[in-house]
Amino acid sequence: MAVCLKRLCSLSLRSMSTVGFVGLGNMGGYMAKNLVKAGKDVVVYDVNESSVQDLKSTGAGACSTPSDLAAVSDVIVTMVPSSPHVLEVFTGSNGLLKTLKPGTLCIDSSTIDPTVSKDVDAAVRAAGGHFYDAPVSGGVVAAENGALTFMVGGDADKFEEVKSYLDDMGANVIHCGANGNGLVVKLCNNMMLAISMIGAAETLNMGIKMGMERQLLSEILSKSTARCWSIDTYNPVPGVMEGVPASRDYAGGFGATLMLKDLGLADDMADGSDSPIVLGKMAKQIYDELCKDEKFAPKDFGVIFKKLSEQ
Ligand code: NAD
Repeated sequence: MAVCLKRLCSLSLRSMSTVGFVGLGNMGGYMAKNLVKAGKDVVVYDVNESSVQDLKSTGAGACSTPSDLAAVSDVIVTMVPSSPHVLEVFTGSNGLLKTLKPGTLCIDSSTIDPTVSKDVDAAVRAAGGHFYDAPVSGGVVAAENGALTFMVGGDADKFEEVKSYLDDMGANVIHCGANGNGLVVKLCNNMMLAISMIGAAETLNMGIKMGMERQLLSEILSKSTARCWSIDTYNPVPGVMEGVPASRDYAGGFGATLMLKDLGLADDMADGSDSPIVLGKMAKQIYDELCKDEKFAPKDFGVIFKKLSEQ
């Protein structure tokens, strides 16, 4: 709190907006760093102290609770794992809403249940702020390179202002309509991604077991009709690509448990809209099985290849 109050005093002498960032994990850490690099005045909070220290070393300020952070922020970006974490950060006993300044722009980039996002939107409005759901696509490499795609839901009138901050972290910032629509698009994307990753893993595993060299097989599929992001950008076979989780024993990246969470959210969305998703439900079952094994659960979702190759 003391650190934040000091910042508040010094900020009152400046006109620059302060951007608060909550959730400095695989994605949020890089996103917050990109805001710092872009010259924004950034303050951060995470339950994990070592992530906070990492951001402090790049020039960000640190706060000891979300409510301390809200007290000094004009714009707040949140990037935490799932719906309960977002509710805790906004409405918890030390949550953002305790001290939110009127007019604060709240941008939640976490992938969560669209109905929870709408509830948080209502609570932020009641507190005098503005709320946008802005989930992302692109993974940790795009987060690091400031090349994310943001799918934004919320009122059109402040979209350009929201975009001006997201532009520092992404290459594409797209308004999808009313609040919750960004998440609808994101869950469609991730259901398709899970299906394509399982398809890529099954295909590559079969080809390799039939004697094909892994690099050559991947190269040919990348130039053929099987081409997809899971093969040509985020290949799940160790040793085929540098810089992807598969080449560091699936460390970092997009956790299998986060993918399972998104498939659960997509499943609920499909049930609620009477949409048949046969493959989506199968993908959920496959990731559910995978995550029951503690050897695979903490790894990147491409670890499905490793599971198949060990069978
Ligand atoms: P992560 O688990 O690496 O990071 C989450 C961070 O939130 C951690 O640092 C954690 O300590 C922090 N946190 C948890 N609860 C908190 C709380 N109450 N207050 C403050 N901080 C808290 O997750 P991630 O991979 O960065 O993903 C974040 C979100 O982005 C998820 O919703 C995920 O589905 C989505 N996403 C991830 C990827 C990816 O490739 N990793 C891609 C697109 C979208």
